[in-house]
Amino acid sequence: MSSPHPRSSPSLLQRSLASVWHPCTQMKTHERLPLVPIVRGEGPWLIDDQGRRYLDGVSSWWVNLFGHCHPHINARIVEQLGRLEHVMLAGFTHEPVVQLSEKLTALTGHALGHAFYASDGASATEIALKMSVHFWRNSGQPQKTRFLCLEGSYHGETVGALAVTDIALFREAYAPLVRFADTVPSPDARHAMQGESARDVALRAAAALEQVLAERHHEMAAFIVEPLVQCATGMAMHDPEYLRRARALCDRYGVHLVADEIAVGCGRTGSFFACEQAGIWPDFLCLSKGISGGYLPLSLVLTSDAIYDAFYDDEVARGFLHSHSYTGNPLACTAALATLELFEQGDVVAANQSLAEKLLAAAQPIAAHPRVQHLRQRGMILAFDVMDAPPGFARNYFQSAMEQGLLLRPIGNTVYWMPPYVLDDAAVAHLAAATLAALDDTLRG
Ligand SMILES: *Cc1c(COP(=O)(O)O)cnc(C)c1O
Repeated sequence: MSSPHPRSSPSLLQRSLASVWHPCTQMKTHERLPLVPIVRGEGPWLIDDQGRRYLDGVSSWWVNLFGHCHPHINARIVEQLGRLEHVMLAGFTHEPVVQLSEKLTALTGHALGHAFYASDGASATEIALKMSVHFWRNSGQPQKTRFLCLEGSYHGETVGALAVTDIALFREAYAPLVRFADTVPSPDARHAMQGESARDVALRAAAALEQVLAERHHEMAAFIVEPLVQCATGMAMHDPEYLRRARALCDRYGVHLVADEIAVGCGRTGSFFACEQAGIWPDFLCLSKGISGGYLPLSLVLTSDAIYDAFYDDEVARGFLHSHSYTGNPLACTAALATLELFEQGDVVAANQSLAEKLLAAAQPIAAHPRVQHLRQRGMILAFDVMDAPPGFARNYFQSAMEQGLLLRPIGNTVYWMPPYVLDDAAVAHLAAATLAALDDTLRG
């Protein structure tokens, strides 16, 4: 096996390839592409077994907010570990889950006053979808069982979540298992025609949404949308006006609005919740990824009194009987509380605004590159598309960037930054320089 990263512990790599089935991976690609053994994390840096440092430009799959091994989050988890590691949440409760629910509810101005917990993002999606259908059934409208999603949407990969994930590569093989949702055009600002603004694209997409809702609302339970940035499809960004229109249309036609803030929540887009930038609240808001600071699996769905009340009854079957073994795990909730404490202590949303400006300034040489188009930004997400990207671009770019000491994983021909919120000036400079160097290296072939 030829490798640009000769390592002293080939046995670990071989053992991993022999025993670990890695996610989102055609395992055969590892005949050429070496796995990277990470032994330590330090702020925004990952350190391998050779002592090489990589800036974590994608927050380890969009989960890390305040860097790796953060002293405050570490200390809070250790403290909780000495008291209570876990207890089932059916029939029992504990301080961390109550505090976390209260804090999140307060962050929605009490518009979404009830938190239902799970462990991963796909489960949060499914919980929102199931709650919506069950709400309509409890409300005497059992025919409302269909869902709407945006073209190119991604809401997770379990069989239920695949119904609202419009990415062929992820769902084709499982099509016989899935009852696919209907799709409506994405408000992706890159769809702008000559002379159109991002807002014009949003209005056009909202008009298409209205047409579908007007015709099909009697069978539609919910419309699910990833607010402001459709991340997994390639950081497709849209104008907040789309969300205002979607909220109004869902109200008019009696269809729930689900906001999947699994990736865009927790300050990522410039406000704590992405929906705040549109001045709306959904009926269901899904959170995961960053909520635990990137430490432990945790997800949740926030919803309103109106939804909650439709399940509150003497009859058991009218209740929401969904559960996961680790629902509301105290260690994960404590990691989330420690993460929210860091938001409170540092006024992180304001601090990110100036960090986002630094990122945009540092990206100017990239924007000027002759093969780069659609350089775009929303808060702590910055992305650009590479024109005429050669075959294998994403994989080759990843490898080049790693050689530059930078972890980036392009989606197709879209290169993006989604770093932790703790970059100093030197890290920002490194991010920009290594991104450009890897681009030139990859395009040279
Ligand atoms: C990652 C992601 C999910 C799925 O979360 P998992 O924890 O990977 O199951 C769902 N929706 C969005 C928008 C995501 O980015």
